[in-house]
Amino acid sequence: MHITDHTATELAEKIKLGEIGVTEAVKASLERIGASERAVGAFLTVEPEKALERAREVEDGIRSGRYAGPLAGVPVAVKDNICTNGTRTTCASRILENFVPFYDATAVKLLEDAGMVILGKTNMDEFAMGSTTETSAFAVTKNPWNTGHVPGGSSGGSCAAVAAGECFAALGSDTGGSIRQPSSYCGVAGIKPTYGTVSRYGLIAYASSLDQIGPIGRSVSDCAALLSVIAAHDEKDSTSVKRGDTDFMSALGDSPRGLRIGIPNEYLSDGLDPDVRDAVGRAAEWLKDAGATVDCFDLGLMEYTIPTYYVIASAEASSNLERFDGVKYGYRAAEYEGLHDMYKRSRSEGFGEEVKRRIMLGSFVLSSGYYDAYYLKALRVKALIKRAFDDAFSRFDIILGPAAPTAAPKLGTSLSDPMKMYLSDIYTVAVNLAGLPGLSVPCTVNGLGLPVGVQLIGDCFAEKKLFTAGAAIEAARAADGETRFTRPVSVCGGAEEAAHTGKECAR
Ligand code: GLN
Repeated sequence: MHITDHTATELAEKIKLGEIGVTEAVKASLERIGASERAVGAFLTVEPEKALERAREVEDGIRSGRYAGPLAGVPVAVKDNICTNGTRTTCASRILENFVPFYDATAVKLLEDAGMVILGKTNMDEFAMGSTTETSAFAVTKNPWNTGHVPGGSSGGSCAAVAAGECFAALGSDTGGSIRQPSSYCGVAGIKPTYGTVSRYGLIAYASSLDQIGPIGRSVSDCAALLSVIAAHDEKDSTSVKRGDTDFMSALGDSPRGLRIGIPNEYLSDGLDPDVRDAVGRAAEWLKDAGATVDCFDLGLMEYTIPTYYVIASAEASSNLERFDGVKYGYRAAEYEGLHDMYKRSRSEGFGEEVKRRIMLGSFVLSSGYYDAYYLKALRVKALIKRAFDDAFSRFDIILGPAAPTAAPKLGTSLSDPMKMYLSDIYTVAVNLAGLPGLSVPCTVNGLGLPVGVQLIGDCFAEKKLFTAGAAIEAARAADGETRFTRPVSVCGGAEEAAHTGKECAR
């Protein structure tokens, strides 16, 4: 077994036992990055020297007992909208192309405190606006399972890096599905935690009332372990929550017996790809076999979630992105006449098309005369959506459904029709509007050899139930012989053939 085939928690265990060295693990990741980056393109920045130096430091720290946690020594990647002290943080935007933060995001600091080794920064949709990672100003990331397809977005770089074995885990951010949807497309596990669980300090804001940082891993237990590391109250984020139940690994061994699972009828309506429908059905059967009850119910308000999300997210984005004016930091146009022209040109040249579209939409819904009709109304509908979930969680422990309506689309087919792209967020955005946790778990591989995940949604602060059910799905999948989730095609060759036959290729 190659080092990079281990999950993060397995690797940490072996490091603790002295069977694998931290430097050895970092070298293995860097080699894998060297071998597959040309095909996958998950990273915007890789810092080999820094990582190797840090590996030696962590090795000493483990020996001295300073780093004793369950992920000490594990190489990890960080989405490029999360600030890293001394390392370029671009948000995949020209406007921040040369931005080097002088402080760490709290989540990054917590990774370091846990003895993890940061390898680099991953590609994403510009300012996390998009669903394919194709709105990045710098690079196109490919799906490691079939490099003709997108990895999803906006945390596509993080998910592709984990799927390709280039790192053992990664941080992503989720405003309307950006962890859960690319996790489903890339065959990895990813969780958007309850709002307030992970500090947003140092996360470059898209829509502050919806943004959450979360972990992405090759297994549900890796996600649980990484969430335990980054979930902490932080005075630097006024929306950070004090919660005492952050030992998420403790839920992994619990039995799903008695868990009440609900599937919204609306989630299975027309337009859902048959492969995704099958995946949800399969997950439901697995959970039933493990002792859970599964029932369908009407959640309601589904048709309002996309418009509500795009009004609120764009409104907040237009306000948050006002700070990029070419004055304090970031890109400034080379030529301009006067202050206003400088603002105009810097922003016109610095932002990409999708970001500009959101700024215009957001400015419109916040403008006087339209504020009540759009923004205020959206806030009211948001409250109703939360109530619909409250009602559902009075009857169910977990809501089961798709993470996305299809498997990963082909590269180059999404950006020409933004409305269609927005509509593909149908299963994820409501979770952010209601502040709930949502876990994406790999479930099956379709006929094209592309992974399909399912989503488990919980009530606020009920992540543990999600991990229990997610681990049960994972165990049932393994028992069914579905072991392909650690073997995406692009990193073991034969992408073409595997894409046609959907068959696993030998490494
Ligand atoms: N696709 C959604 C959007 O573009 C969600 C993005 C995200 O979660 N960051 O807004």
